[in-house]
Amino acid sequence: MSDSVTANEKINPNKLSKAQKIIRQLQKELPQYIANGSGPFLAAIYDANGNLIAKEANSVVSEICSHNHAEMNTIRAAEKKLKTYDLSSYNLSLYVTAEPCIMCLGGIMWSGIKEIYYGVPSKRVEEITGFDEGFKPDWLNEFKKRNITVYGNIEVEKGEEVLQNYVLQGHTVYKPERS
Ligand SMILES: [Zn+2]
Repeated sequence: MSDSVTANEKINPNKLSKAQKIIRQLQKELPQYIANGSGPFLAAIYDANGNLIAKEANSVVSEICSHNHAEMNTIRAAEKKLKTYDLSSYNLSLYVTAEPCIMCLGGIMWSGIKEIYYGVPSKRVEEITGFDEGFKPDWLNEFKKRNITVYGNIEVEKGEEVLQNYVLQGHTVYKPERS
């Protein structure tokens, strides 16, 4: 099962199985967020003891803001809750149902998050939905250099199903025009 997982560190089976459980739970909750006008991405930040610090979906459409991706919303909520713009001393992990886009990689880097676990890879997100994920050359290695651990392609099949349903239901795929 872990064969298909991408990682920039040696895979720790305990961390991976914990991440699979959390991402499955996020996937399960997503249809409710979508029904309420947000999604189709959901992120959560946990501390090393397994306490949930923040959990947010993307809200670009409902809150009319192009920055409001799930990761950015979740980092913002965590910083507010912990009353700091530097999360690095908290040893936090971010779990998200799809690979972070170019903007969110920047947001994660500046936040001090130490570990990332993501579901559906960007290529598949773009193929299924038409969302633009941006250009991200060699980001796994760049994050490794900054001591940010990344595990990806976790619970992909179910994650793709959620995205397919979002498109089938006719929800907005937002991106700037490129004319
Ligand atoms: Zn993003």
